[in-house]
Amino acid sequence: MHEVALAEEVLHIVGIEAERHGLSRVTEIGLSIGAWSCVVPEALAFALEAVLAGSVASGARLDLESVPGRLRCGECDNEYAPEDRYEPCPACGRFGPQVIAGNDMIVRRVAGA
Ligand SMILES: [Zn+2]
Repeated sequence: MHEVALAEEVLHIVGIEAERHGLSRVTEIGLSIGAWSCVVPEALAFALEAVLAGSVASGARLDLESVPGRLRCGECDNEYAPEDRYEPCPACGRFGPQVIAGNDMIVRRVAGA
């Protein structure tokens, strides 16, 4: 399952952050989930609960934030935020824009004590 692999990746990043900030316990994890990342937040939260159990972040509160997708036109540099990532540029009509946000999942914040 895609979400389990992602949850393991989150745990890996959280572990690095916890060590870097000298946290003995992680109580909150903030995640940004792109609209086009194909991540189902509920499934990720469920997978994280299982993966984090017994780790430094066991039982941590999850703060899942959804990030809308944004595109930039390669022709006229116009930035736009359509529902559909394949939508052509509304300013010049060019197809094949560059995705500048909303494509991935990011660990935004790791907090604890
Ligand atoms: Zn354009």
